[in-house]
Amino acid sequence: MHEAAIARCLALSRQAREQQGEALASTLASLDAALAEAQAAHLAALPAPDALLELDLAGYLTGWNAGAEQLFGYSAQEALGQHVLFLYADEDEGGDIAELFFQQAQEQGQPQMSGVTEVRRRTKSGDIVWVRLALSLRRDEGGDTIGMLVRLHTVQEPLAEADKLQLHARIIEDSDQGVLITDANERIVSINGAFTRITGYLPEETIGSTPDLLRSGVHDADFRAQVRAAMRGSGPWRGEIIGKRKNGELFPQSVTISAVRDHAGQITHTFSLFSDISVHKDAEARMQRMANYDSLTGLPNQCLLSQLLDQALTEARRTGEHGAVMVVEISRLGAISDTLGHDIGNALLCEIGRQFRQALRDPDVLARIDGNKFAIALLQIEKREHAAIVAQKLLSTLSTPLAVGGHSLQVGASAGIAVYPEDGSDSPSLIHFAEVAAARAAKNLEPSFLFYSEEMNQRAKEHLRMETELRSALALDQLELYYQPKVSLRSGRIVGAEALLRWRHPVRGMVSPGVFIPVAEETGLILDLGNWVLEEACRQVRAWKDANLMMPPIAVNLSARQFDTQLPARITAVLARHDVLPEQIMLEITESLLVGGSDNVIGIMNALVAMGMALALDDFGTGYSSLAYLKKFPISTLKIDRSFVTGLPHEENDCAIARAIVTMAQQLRQEIVAEGVETPEQMAFLRELGCDQLQGYLFSQPVSAAEFESMLKEGRRLSFGSR
Ligand code: C2E
Ligand code: MG
Ligand code: MG
Repeated sequence: MHEAAIARCLALSRQAREQQGEALASTLASLDAALAEAQAAHLAALPAPDALLELDLAGYLTGWNAGAEQLFGYSAQEALGQHVLFLYADEDEGGDIAELFFQQAQEQGQPQMSGVTEVRRRTKSGDIVWVRLALSLRRDEGGDTIGMLVRLHTVQEPLAEADKLQLHARIIEDSDQGVLITDANERIVSINGAFTRITGYLPEETIGSTPDLLRSGVHDADFRAQVRAAMRGSGPWRGEIIGKRKNGELFPQSVTISAVRDHAGQITHTFSLFSDISVHKDAEARMQRMANYDSLTGLPNQCLLSQLLDQALTEARRTGEHGAVMVVEISRLGAISDTLGHDIGNALLCEIGRQFRQALRDPDVLARIDGNKFAIALLQIEKREHAAIVAQKLLSTLSTPLAVGGHSLQVGASAGIAVYPEDGSDSPSLIHFAEVAAARAAKNLEPSFLFYSEEMNQRAKEHLRMETELRSALALDQLELYYQPKVSLRSGRIVGAEALLRWRHPVRGMVSPGVFIPVAEETGLILDLGNWVLEEACRQVRAWKDANLMMPPIAVNLSARQFDTQLPARITAVLARHDVLPEQIMLEITESLLVGGSDNVIGIMNALVAMGMALALDDFGTGYSSLAYLKKFPISTLKIDRSFVTGLPHEENDCAIARAIVTMAQQLRQEIVAEGVETPEQMAFLRELGCDQLQGYLFSQPVSAAEFESMLKEGRRLSFGSR
C-alpha cells in the first residue's frame, strides 16, 4: 500500500522538481541515474539499431542487412524467403501493420509511414525486443509497387508498473537522504534506511508516531507553525531544521517537505526528504574561523575588525557616539626571528597578543591585521583622549622584556590613533589613518603614540602633562586641603566643614579641582589623591584636637573609584593611625555611585555606617536617583546641588525642586545642606523651606586650615539679618 504512495509522490515530485530545490533534486537525480543505469544495462544486451528488411507484396522477406542479422541473430540465409511473421512476438499482432500501410499507401497515396508504433519482436534466441518501425514502399522502374522496406529501431522496453514501483522503492531505500512519509493524520507510515542511519530510530520505533519524535525544542512557535503549514499542504517548504537524534544529540538537517494529494485534492500523505548537514555546518564554522580570525594568534583579523567597526560606526551615526581605532606596530620582530628562528618570532607575537588582550577591556576589539601590526577598536570610550591612556597601557606592557621560549625578548612599538567621527567615518579610512599615525610615531626612538589629528595630539599632550605633573604634585607636597564651613540655619553657628583639595602649581598657581580631579579619575591617580586627602584630613583633625579645639565633623569627598570592598578597612587604618574617631569624619559621595547601585555598594556603605561614620550625598539632583530610591541607602545628609540654589527664589522650577527635595528628605529624616548659597535671599528662602544647613560664599569661601581655625576660635556666626 505505501509503496504505491511512494511511487505517486515520486511522480509528483518529479513535476515539482524545479521549485523544490536541491534536496529533492538530488533524490530525483539519483532516481534518474538509477533508471539510466538500468536502461544502459538493458540496451547493452541488445544488438545495434538500424536493421533493414525488404518484403514482397505478400510479406515474404526479400532483403536482410547486417543490422537485421545483428538484431535478430538470424543470418540472411536463414531469414530470406521466410514470412515476416516469423519475427513477431505476439501472434495477434498479425500482419496488421504491413496491411494497414499498404492500404493507406494506396488510398491516400502515402508512400511512407514512420514512427507509428512500437512493437515486440522475437530474436533467434527467443528474447523479446521492442522496436519502432519505419515503412516505405518499394517500386520497380515502371513505378509499380513491388513490396516494402522496413527499418527497425530498437527502443527501450517500458518498465512494467510493478517493476517501476519496485525500482522506485529500492531507490528511496538506498537514498543517502532520510525519507519520512506521513499519512493525513501526521502519523509516520514509512521511513527509509537513511532515516534510521541519521536519526538512530528503527522503523518499529517510528511507524505510527508523529514527526515530533525528532523535535529538538530549539525552534520557536512561528517556525514550527511554518513547518506544520507545509505538512498541511501550504506548498513545498525547504529549510534547515535542528532535529534530535535518538541518542539526544541535536543535528542540523536540510529538509524539503511536500504534501501529496489525491484526485479530489485531499492530502493523503506528506513526505519529508532530509539530509544531515552537521558535517557541512562544522566545515562552515571552520571556514568562518579561517575567514575571520588570524590563524597564528587566534585574534580577529582585519576582515572581522572591519565588520565590527562598520557595525559600530553605523550605530554611532545614529546615537552620536564616538570612538577610536588604534594601530600598534611592533618593531624588532624581524631581527628576533632571524636570530632565534620563526617559531620564537611567532610565539612572541602570540605573547604580545595575550598581553594586549589582558590590558584591554572586554568591549575593545583586538585584531592582528598584518605581520607586525595589531589594531584595536575602542568602541566605548567616554572621551577620545582616553584612547591615549589605552595606548600608553599597551605600550607599557612591552616596556619590560617578554619571556618567550626561555628567552627574554624586548620589542619596540609605536601606536597611531584615529578617532571617529572626526577623522573618518568608515573603517578603511580609520584603519589607514591610524596606520599613518603609527608610522609617524615610529620615527621616535622611544615607544610612543600619536593621534592622526594635530588637535587631538595637543589635547592628549595636555592631558598627559597634567597627569605627570599631578603625580609629582603628590611627591612634591604641592597639595593642600582647604576647608569650607557649613553653618546651621537655626543657630547660625559653624556645624561642620568640607575639606576641598587644592593644588598649588609652581607655575600655574592654584589649579581648580574641577580641572585636575577628572584627569585623576581617568588615570586612576584619584586613588593616591584620595588616600592623601583622607590622611591629611585626619592629620589635621588630630592636630586641632591636640590643640584642644572643639571641631565639628569634617567632610571628605570620595570618588566612586575609591569605593571598593577594602575602603572600610583602609579608613579604619587611617583613623587608627591618627587616633581620630569615626564621628569626626564624614564622607561625601555622588549619585553616580548609587545609580550603579549594586549590593556591593550598599554593603560597603553599611560597613562604613556601622563603623560610626556618616554619609552625605553630594550634588543631589544632578544625577538620576529619585528620592524614593534613596531609601535603599544609609545616607544621613543630602546636599542640594548649587545649580538649583542659584535660581532661588526667583526661578519657579528651582523653587519647586528645592521644595520637593526638602519635603522628601524631611520624611526620610535626612539632614539637608544647601550648597553654593551666595545671597541672603537664597538663604532666607532655604531657611523658610526648612533646610538645615548652608554652605556657600555667603558665609565663607573654602579657606586654609589656619583661617578656618581662627574662624572657629572667633565663634563666627551667620547673620540672618532682615530680608
Ligand atoms: P563639591 O564637593 O560639590 O564641592 C563644592 C564646590 O563648590 C567647591 O568647589 C566649592 O569651592 C564650591 N563652592 C562652594 N560654595 C560656593 C558658592 O557659594 N559659589 C560657588 N560658585 N561655588 C561654591 P571646588 O573646591 O572647586 O571643588 C570642586 C569639586 O571638586 C568638588 O565639588 C568635588 O566634587 C571635587 N573635589 C574637591 N576636593 C575633592 C577631594 O578631595 N576628593 C574628591 N574626590 N573630589 C574633590
Ligand atoms: Mg563635596
Ligand atoms: Mg557638591
